[in-house]
Amino acid sequence: MSTSLVAPKSVVAPFSLGDFFKSFLLFELVKGMALTGRYTFRRKITVQFPEEKTPLSPRFRGLHAQRRYENGEERCIACKLCEAVCPALAITIEAGQRQDDGSRRTTRYDIDLTKCIFCGFCEEACPVDAIVETHILEYHGEKRGDLYFTKEMLLAVGDRYEPEIAKAKAADAPYR
Ligand code: SF4
Ligand code: SF4
Repeated sequence: MSTSLVAPKSVVAPFSLGDFFKSFLLFELVKGMALTGRYTFRRKITVQFPEEKTPLSPRFRGLHAQRRYENGEERCIACKLCEAVCPALAITIEAGQRQDDGSRRTTRYDIDLTKCIFCGFCEEACPVDAIVETHILEYHGEKRGDLYFTKEMLLAVGDRYEPEIAKAKAADAPYR
C-alpha cells in the first residue's frame, strides 16, 4: 500500500494596517500609562498592617477555642460530633465520666492545627457551641508541636476571648 505525502501549506498572517500603526505609535503603552495615571490620584486602599486592620466577619474562621458557661463549667459534653465531622482528622477526643457529678466530659481534646483546613465543620456540628473558631489570625508556631493545641490551651483561648466570641455569635445568630 502506498501513501502520498502532501507538503503543508505555509501560513501567512494577515497584514493589518491598524495593527501596524498601533504598534508604530506605541498605542498599547500609552493606554497603559493612561490607566496608571487614572489611578494615581484616586483614594489609596493599601492597609498598613499590622497597625491598621480590615474589618472581619463574625463568621471569620481563625484560631480555635473551647468555651465555658458563665459559671465556669466547660460546655463540651464529649459527644464527639466535631471529631466525626472533621474532614482533616485533626481532632482527637477521649472521654470519660467525671467522678464528682457523673457527667460525661473529655479527658483529652486535641486539635492539630497543622492538619486543620479551617472549614468550620466542627463549630457547625457542636450542639452546645463549645468548640468555636475565633477572629484570631495572628498566631504562629516555630516548631511543629507549637500548633498542636490541647484542651487546656483551647480553654485558655476561650477564657481570654469569651467577650469577643460571644459578640460574634450574637451578631451571626439572626442568620442561622
Ligand atoms: S475547622 Fe474543619 S478541619 Fe479544622 S478542626 Fe474543625 S472540622 Fe477539622
Ligand atoms: S466540642 Fe462540641 S461537638 Fe465536639 S465533642 Fe464537645 S460538645 Fe461535642
